[in-house]
Amino acid sequence: MKKLNATHDPLRRSWVVSANQPCCDFPIQNLPLGVFSIDGEKRAGVAIGDKVVDLQQALHAGLLDGDAAVAVRASEGGKLNGLMALGNHYASALRAQLSDLLRSDSPRLLLARESEHLILRAMDDVVMELPCDIGDYTDFLTSLHHTERHGRFKGLKDPLPPAFKSLPVAYHGRASSIRASGAKVIRPNGQYKNSQGEVCFGPAPMLDFELELAAFVARGNPLSEPVAIREVQDYIFGYCLLNDWSAKSIQWWEQVLGPFLGKNFVSSISPWIVTTEALLPFRLPAPPRAAADPALLPYLSGDEDQAEGGIDIGLEAWISTSAQRSEQRPAVRITQTHLKNLYWTFGQMLTHHASNGCNLRAGDLIGSGTISGESNLTRACITELTNAGADPLPLGGGEFRLALEDGDEIILMARAAHAGAVSIGFGECRGRIFPARDWPV
Ligand code: CA
Repeated sequence: MKKLNATHDPLRRSWVVSANQPCCDFPIQNLPLGVFSIDGEKRAGVAIGDKVVDLQQALHAGLLDGDAAVAVRASEGGKLNGLMALGNHYASALRAQLSDLLRSDSPRLLLARESEHLILRAMDDVVMELPCDIGDYTDFLTSLHHTERHGRFKGLKDPLPPAFKSLPVAYHGRASSIRASGAKVIRPNGQYKNSQGEVCFGPAPMLDFELELAAFVARGNPLSEPVAIREVQDYIFGYCLLNDWSAKSIQWWEQVLGPFLGKNFVSSISPWIVTTEALLPFRLPAPPRAAADPALLPYLSGDEDQAEGGIDIGLEAWISTSAQRSEQRPAVRITQTHLKNLYWTFGQMLTHHASNGCNLRAGDLIGSGTISGESNLTRACITELTNAGADPLPLGGGEFRLALEDGDEIILMARAAHAGAVSIGFGECRGRIFPARDWPV
């Protein structure tokens, strides 16, 4: 059960002044991990305010020791897979030492400030990279409302798949086309059925975003050895935002065995991993199940997961169009939702994923599926926001959308907030759409 420690102390402040601003995504209670590049070299870092702690430099300056030093050595070479594979104890040791070093009343304040020019880099001066090698990527479908709406759009008699309430539904995605926030989103060419019902090939209409949260696997499980739900939190390293860009026109025509080319042209993630430990103050009970729902099978039912398998995270999607930018109009928020809109917990997703003995590996990514709720404001993709193209989405300034257009930029954001805790954010997941390549290339 929740074991909060000194790193969660809401009174703790940092000598990095920007970290103490009320709406800062990265206060000292967060300390998310990521990989940045500077002068062509990739390095592991931790976000604090508007700065990045260069972990290698902090180690070289003698500011980290013991298990925290082991953690930093495991992330040498600019990827976090080694640290993830060690298990969350080492990331926790690193967090404890960094929190102690960065707090305003640190006993090592003088030493830390002497090394400040070596260990702290301005976030604006670095480029964020993918945090690790993502060996495998699985995307779940755990919002009942998203699933039901799509079922209705497709004219299904029963919009919810029969298994939906018995197991967390998923498909195997494509890891090679995942990119960090800011990467270009080039409209895919593909095969689809046009409005006259003709099968054609070309730049895909009905391009969409999907607002999701994703978990990184910490230590994995060997092939044929499942993960018990009572231990599942040890297998989740942390979380990021995921935009599962979708060419719905391609997807709805091709989908027989599951999503394929409608999904794997690119997926975007926010580059900072908010750790499982940082999110401890924000745990919520698992989403309640209706009395008529099938009972949870024992392998998906754990006391701890039921008591605190949810997380108090609000998520938003914003759109910035070419016209908005040229007319200097601000971006517009189009979605405001909450993680509680998921029917399944991440613990249940991971346990189910490994339940047949499938081996998960450190750095694997597990997406939640589009986090739509019941109300109109919580619809977390354009297809839902427009009722599958029936109702244009107004963006102000006379602009409307039935689907995303070239030049549109989608910005995803999220914050964990809970009474008595300092709110923490995830940073941005941003992607702008560029025109399709000429065909043949
Ligand atoms: Ca998805």
